Amino acid sequence: MTGAHILCFHVGPKEGRQIIVQGGMHAREWITSLLVTRQAFVLQKEQLPFGIYFLPMTNPDGCTLAQTGADVFPEIQKRLLEINGGEDFSLWKANLRGVDINCNFNARWGTGKGNLNYPSPSSYIGEHAESEAETQALVRFTKRVDPILTISYHALGREIYYEFGQTGRRLARDRELAECAAAYLGYSLVDGDLGSAGGYKDFCVGLGITALTVEIVDDAHSHPLNETDLIGEEKNIWLPMILARELEKNS
Ligand SMILES: [Zn+2]
Repeated sequence: MTGAHILCFHVGPKEGRQIIVQGGMHAREWITSLLVTRQAFVLQKEQLPFGIYFLPMTNPDGCTLAQTGADVFPEIQKRLLEINGGEDFSLWKANLRGVDINCNFNARWGTGKGNLNYPSPSSYIGEHAESEAETQALVRFTKRVDPILTISYHALGREIYYEFGQTGRRLARDRELAECAAAYLGYSLVDGDLGSAGGYKDFCVGLGITALTVEIVDDAHSHPLNETDLIGEEKNIWLPMILARELEKNS
């Protein structure tokens, strides 16, 4: 909405199959942006079988709002305060239009558990699927890259989600990689889609891509999170490399 850029780093081979890692889609989960940036920095020094695109912050306006409050957006401050119902934006998840980007993708759009039909700090699906600039940008990018794997970082719960209606060999393939990630991180693997719809992971699974949602930070912590909540999550820095090597074994 403000024209803020969605930054992207690339490491590893430019040719051949690629992986996309994205974070910061939910504003209050902006610590995932720090994690994804660290991944890009560390993994640039590693030998990787596939290229990796890192998008640390796919909701830059929302992350700014959650971190600084509405003062920095004077033109829409009144509207933001109305949607939020107060001046504390630290629990805000949506973009500046009050749309939850992770409910806005064209994947059983509007049918998700907890979906809302009006602007809100979270869970509003938008006027139609892919109505938001952030969603459109990620859809275009994903279709262009055509990755073998996407990893979406969220918080919290130390859980991994991978399912969205896929069956047969694709389900087995995706579950195997999700199991590998869960075993490496010591996280719980969540079977089923739990009423999810309109999410980026859901959209990717619909395209036939293996797609993991990784919820960092155990639930002894609570929102709003800050940088110190990343202590204990260091193994995640190497997760994209671990999964790339696993995919190479199977290819
Ligand atoms: Zn989230």
